[in-house]
Amino acid sequence: MSEAVADVTADLRSDTLTRPTQAMREAMASAPVGDDVYGEDPTVLALQRQVADLLGHEDALFTPTGSMANQLGVRLHVAPGQELVTDDLAHVLRAEMGAAAVLSGISARSYPTTGGLLDVDAAMALAVTEGGAYQVGTACVVVENTHNFGGGTIQPLEAMQDLQERAHARGMAVHLDGARLWNAHVATGTPLADYGACADTVSVCLSKGLGAPVGSLLVGSSDRMQQARVWRKRFGGGMRQVGILAAAGRYALEHQLDRLAEDHARCQQVAQAVAAVNPEAVDPGAVHTNILVLRVAPAGWSAADFIEAAGERGVLGYATGPEHVRFVWHLDVDDAQTDHAAAVLTELLASRA
Ligand SMILES: *Cc1c(COP(=O)(O)O)cnc(C)c1O
Repeated sequence: MSEAVADVTADLRSDTLTRPTQAMREAMASAPVGDDVYGEDPTVLALQRQVADLLGHEDALFTPTGSMANQLGVRLHVAPGQELVTDDLAHVLRAEMGAAAVLSGISARSYPTTGGLLDVDAAMALAVTEGGAYQVGTACVVVENTHNFGGGTIQPLEAMQDLQERAHARGMAVHLDGARLWNAHVATGTPLADYGACADTVSVCLSKGLGAPVGSLLVGSSDRMQQARVWRKRFGGGMRQVGILAAAGRYALEHQLDRLAEDHARCQQVAQAVAAVNPEAVDPGAVHTNILVLRVAPAGWSAADFIEAAGERGVLGYATGPEHVRFVWHLDVDDAQTDHAAAVLTELLASRA
């Protein structure tokens, strides 16, 4: 590969790839710390308070990963032998290694979704709340906002409110997988607390577009967070002087939240460039945030071949299925890399259209 190409290589495989900036590292290095299993780490306590307040919940719990935050959330709502209901592209089903089944004895059913969009009628139709001794009872509905494998899709607030009303009316809880809820907030201007009000528990990630190296939180009522603290320890996630990591999250919330809008604009720029040469590959109107999912099959590509060809041209992405590829914008991707990605993706999709 020539130097020129190497210089503009755009690593768009995921927004988890961001590396901490020098200023973030300095904030981490100087953070006051204590033993968080004893509840004595001031920086963790401050982060938990901040995120609970942002989402309008009583309390929050710092976790090493978003998967752990999700698994704690569903564990609180669903007893072993009960089930959760979600969509068939949900991270909690597709990307957490069967944790709900393995760790908590929870089974799951899912409704088919287009672009990850929440379908309240479909979720309610699947749910079983009068199962008796014949059918598995549904204890929780999980909704993902924004939706990762759906392509960064923002769930409409009204749909989330509707879901919560109807789930609660039938005695079910709602867990919001808000790994990228920050992106929905920045893209729509909807206050985080308005989204937070639609769920009993919410998970959020600091290590995606926000740019922290590690860390997630679960938020909910004080009672639930006390239970979650016990389960976190049981799952092996009790951490000690972890304020050093919480400090990165505090830094990210202060300095790297509003800039998510830049990721959204760059992603939209590429979506429009691709749609101009191949409208079958993507509808820019369905690209809401920082994730671009392209359908490459109509242009004669398999997802694997497409990813290889883009990679050879310095644009790294990820095949999310046999026909779909995903490119994700983040802190470490600038305008020049975005222009390069647009040029490569349009070239590849125009060539076989
Ligand atoms: C990244 C992500 C998570 C959490 O992933 P971890 O790698 O465990 O931190 C959860 N939900 C969604 C939608 C995600 O994209």
